[in-house]
Amino acid sequence: MENPARRPKILIIYTGGTIGMIESPETHTLEPFDFSHLIDNVPKIKLLNYQIDSVSLDPPIDSSNMNPEHWRKIAKVIGKNHRDYDGFVILHGTDTMAYTASALSFMLENLSKPVIITGSQLPIGEVRTDGEENLITALQIAADTTAGNIPMVQEVAILFENYLWRGNRSTKMSADNFNAFKSNNYPALAKIGLDIHYNVDALYRTTERRPLRVHTTLETGVLFIDLFPGITEQSLRHQLSTPGVRGIVLKTFGAGNAPTAKWFIDSISDAIKDGKVIVNVTQCVNGGVQHLYQSSDGLVSAGIVSGHDITAEAAITKLMYLFGLGLTPQDVAEHFGHSICGELSE
Ligand code: ASP
Repeated sequence: MENPARRPKILIIYTGGTIGMIESPETHTLEPFDFSHLIDNVPKIKLLNYQIDSVSLDPPIDSSNMNPEHWRKIAKVIGKNHRDYDGFVILHGTDTMAYTASALSFMLENLSKPVIITGSQLPIGEVRTDGEENLITALQIAADTTAGNIPMVQEVAILFENYLWRGNRSTKMSADNFNAFKSNNYPALAKIGLDIHYNVDALYRTTERRPLRVHTTLETGVLFIDLFPGITEQSLRHQLSTPGVRGIVLKTFGAGNAPTAKWFIDSISDAIKDGKVIVNVTQCVNGGVQHLYQSSDGLVSAGIVSGHDITAEAAITKLMYLFGLGLTPQDVAEHFGHSICGELSE
């Protein structure tokens, strides 16, 4: 329920993405366009009677170009304006939305206000756009409060079409479906129909109220290694020894399984002895890493860290964040398995 006594104050952070794109007359492909074009296409916003301000990335980008420098800028904007606004709506391309949501969830320590990320599959100027509805619903969620008048959502979340998902649990599942996101290992935070039905038990709540702390140092020496039948020792060792790499997310089979060949385990073990942190994350969209099969014994004894049921997006950004805190590889490995803000089930 919104508090009728005052107008909710929301800050929109426009980063780009399909929602604000227009077709280039030269190439006939979609390119990012400015915020005024976007907002002019949603006159219904005025019906909300909110106080809405906006800031924009300059220039707005296709989210395929998103990087940690942009995350720093976004996190700083939220940090600077945190006291003055009831909630934040980030307009973002869908391609890397789950990475941004995950990164921000770690960077915004002790967040107690809504940071709702949304975008669309069709540009806002298109007749059948999903952008208008997504933007309006995101604003409503950012303004919603509980009966006790505290923010309903106190975390980074993705609003897309019919669902609100925890940001660091989300994955882009479809390149063309309006319901493009899902958190496969965590229930929806809200279901959007005629009304917004919150799944109150699933919403993140901190036990202690502490001031927001914005972390802006992220380690970029991280990478994914995706296993496949036929991967060679040469290619695996080459990737593991990429210069500057400190943290690796190893995407394994099923419940966290991998080849048992000696060369494979030795390669992993050598990289860990060399000071790298390697996290085991399943390639499956559903479920997580469990030490069930003999085919995961070698990885466990080599010192791999279990990612449990974390998403790949949250795993890579969590490594960036933990190394960014200045922790030693041992401490990063130790902290990784514990939930920071609801990103994994321990
Ligand atoms: N390429 C676009 C982006 O991520 C796709 C989208 O927004 O849906 O910016």
